Amino acid sequence: HQVPTITLNNGVEMPQLGFGVWQVPDDEAERTVVTALEAGYRSIDTAAIYGNEAGTGRAIAASGLPREDIFVTTKLWNSEQGYDSTLRAFDASLAKLGLDYVDLYLIHWPLPAKDRYIDTYKAFEKLYADGRIKAIGVSNFLPEHLQRLISETSVVPAVNQIELHPHLQQEAARKAHAERGIATEAWSPLGQGKGLLEVPAIVAIAQKHGRTPAQVVLRWHLQLGNIVIPKSVTPSRIKENIEVFDFSLDDEDLAAIAALNEDRRLGPDPAVFDGE
Ligand code: NAD
Repeated sequence: HQVPTITLNNGVEMPQLGFGVWQVPDDEAERTVVTALEAGYRSIDTAAIYGNEAGTGRAIAASGLPREDIFVTTKLWNSEQGYDSTLRAFDASLAKLGLDYVDLYLIHWPLPAKDRYIDTYKAFEKLYADGRIKAIGVSNFLPEHLQRLISETSVVPAVNQIELHPHLQQEAARKAHAERGIATEAWSPLGQGKGLLEVPAIVAIAQKHGRTPAQVVLRWHLQLGNIVIPKSVTPSRIKENIEVFDFSLDDEDLAAIAALNEDRRLGPDPAVFDGE
């Protein structure tokens, strides 16, 4: 599979489709990530809070692939926000992964009530300047958080990873990112596989193209320009989810999916979420 890359605002190339490992236990992560790497994925999305950085790192080592061929994202958890605690948390993540740099490091949530994301990001800027992170970014930031971050720090985030799927199309956020040179990365791109993959309009488009509903939804993201990180632990689905580069949706398909927006979140609202 030739997965196209998105050129981030600092010139780093990031695969447009990667593999998410939320809710994969550490002792299953090695096998699952090896399966994904064998299927052709070259980007892995983990986080300190997922508890599977070690298993992810073991898979990368076991794959035998050159380090520079794999794009590794991890995220700073909420309880570690702050300048010094971020530097320590980054060292811990890197040690668990068994790596000497990560490709992308994200602030997992803005936690606006705690008001520590500026100091946190300044630590990210130091790690970036030291060459230990190839690109720095954020997750779950609302446009108002991005605006403040950009006005008070020096490096424009490369990526904002947000909840995005056909029931939550995030048009305003996507526009705000594009205006600032920030790439949009979609989490829960398949809507966590719940009702979304049974929606009649999506099933009909899948039948029309001889594809699966999951492939149709992933293709919709790719044609919008989103970076996607679908998750599965089932080998056949892991393979299915990367077989999305040999067909396209037409304007009628895209319009039918656009009509499915409900502005409905599966996850927390970043404006108020203060979870540790
Ligand atoms: P997803 O939208 O990728 O859906 C995954 C689920 O969909 C699977 O568990 C499975 O039940 C189903 N599924 C997957 N492939 C399928 C297929 N081909 N056919 C039928 N069903 C299929 O959900 P997700 O795991 O929540 O999101 C993907 C990744 O995004 C996560 O693993 C994680 O890396 C990231 N994420 C980030 C945040 C954040 O706050 N930054 C939050 C949630 C998820």
